[in-house]
Amino acid sequence: MTAILREPLARRTSVGVNIGGVVVGGDAPVVVQSMTNTDTADIDSTVAQVAALSQAGSEIVRITVDRDEAAAAVPKIRERLDRLGMSVPLVGDFHYIGHKLLADHPACAEALAKYRINPGNVGFRDKRDRQFAEIVEMAIKYDKPVRIGVNWGSLDQELLTRLMDENQEQGSPLSARQVTREAIVQSALLSAELAEKIGLGRDKIILSAKVSQVQDLISVYAMLAERSDHALHLGLTEAGMGTKGVVASSAAMGILLQQGIGDTIRISLTPEPGGDRTREVQVAQELLQTMGFRQFLPVVAACPGCGRTTSTVFQELAQRIESDLREQMPIWRDKYPGVEELKVAVMGCIVNGPGESKHADIGISLPGTGESPAAPVYVEGRKTATLRGNNIAEDFRAMLADYIEQ
Ligand code: SF4
Repeated sequence: MTAILREPLARRTSVGVNIGGVVVGGDAPVVVQSMTNTDTADIDSTVAQVAALSQAGSEIVRITVDRDEAAAAVPKIRERLDRLGMSVPLVGDFHYIGHKLLADHPACAEALAKYRINPGNVGFRDKRDRQFAEIVEMAIKYDKPVRIGVNWGSLDQELLTRLMDENQEQGSPLSARQVTREAIVQSALLSAELAEKIGLGRDKIILSAKVSQVQDLISVYAMLAERSDHALHLGLTEAGMGTKGVVASSAAMGILLQQGIGDTIRISLTPEPGGDRTREVQVAQELLQTMGFRQFLPVVAACPGCGRTTSTVFQELAQRIESDLREQMPIWRDKYPGVEELKVAVMGCIVNGPGESKHADIGISLPGTGESPAAPVYVEGRKTATLRGNNIAEDFRAMLADYIEQ
C-alpha cells in the first residue's frame, strides 16, 4: 500500500553553506531568495530593487552579471547597500563568460557572496571543464560558495546525447523524458564532483536543477536528494505569470518540502509589465508559512464571504490589515519580538465571526446582512469592545496597533 504522509518528513540532512552570513542547508531554516530583473550596470535601479526585495523578506538576492559593465557595477551596488544598512548577500548569476568576468573584476569577485555557475553554458567541449575550473578556482581564492545551477533550457547537450545513446544501446528501458531527467541530475552531480576535485569544500557547494514542469521538478530533486548531501536550492523555472506561476511553484515545492527536500527556495514569477517584483518573495514566504515551516508574518484569518455579506467592508479591512502588517513588519520585527506569531481574524458575520475571532489574538466580527450594525472585537478570547458607525475599519486598525504595542 502506498504510504500516506501524515506529517512532513524530517528535513534531509545536507551540508550547510554560509552565504555572506546566511546559512543554507544543515540545521538552518529554509531560506527565501529572489532575483532582480534590472540591468545590473544600472546601479540606481539595481540598488532600489535589491533593497525592495530585501525589505520584503528576501534573505539572499541574485543579480545578473553578464558583461564588464555589470561586473564593474557590483562592488558599487554592494557599497550603496551597505551604506543603507542592508547586509543582504548578493549572488552573481554567471553564464558563458563568468570565468573571464571574475578574473577581470576582482572587486566584483570579492563583493559577491556566492557565484552561480551554469554547467551547461560555461564553455564548449574541451573548454568547458577548464572554464568551469577557473570559476571554481576563483571561488576558492575568494573563499566564496558556488551554486551549480543546471537548467533544463541550457542542459549540457553532450551529456544528454551520450545518455540517450547509451539508453538506446540498452534497448531503451527509459523514456526520453526519463533520460533527460537523468542528464540533469548527472550534470549537477558530475559538476559538483569536479568542483570538489579542484579543491572546493563540500560546505561551499549548493546544487539546483531547474525545470519548468512540476512532475519533472519533483522527480529530479528527489533523485538529487537521494544521491547527494549537498544543500539544494529549489525553483521551478519559467513557472509563468499570475496564478499559474504561483500554483505550479507551490505545488512542486510544497511536495518536495513536505518530503524534507529543499534548503532554499526561489519562486520565479513573470511579473506583469511594470509589476511588483517583490510578489515572488511574498509567495515564497506564504508557502513556507502556510506549510508550517517558518513564520514570517502574523496570520490574518478572513472568511471568504457569502450571501450573508452584501458589503465588501470586511474584505477591504482584511486586505488593509494584511498590507499594514506586511509594511510594518521590518520595523515591528525588531521592536516587538514574536510579533510574527500574532493571529488576527476579520470575519464577515455572526455565523463564524465570534468563534473564529475568539481563537485569534485579536479579531473582529463584522455585521452581516440584516444583523445589527455592531462589530464585536475580541482580544485573547474575550469581547472587549463593540464598534459601530462608519469608522469601524479605522477603529479596529487602531485597536490592532495598540494591541501590538502593548
Ligand atoms: Fe459567510 Fe458569515 Fe461564514 Fe463569512 S462568517 S463565510 S459571512 S457565513
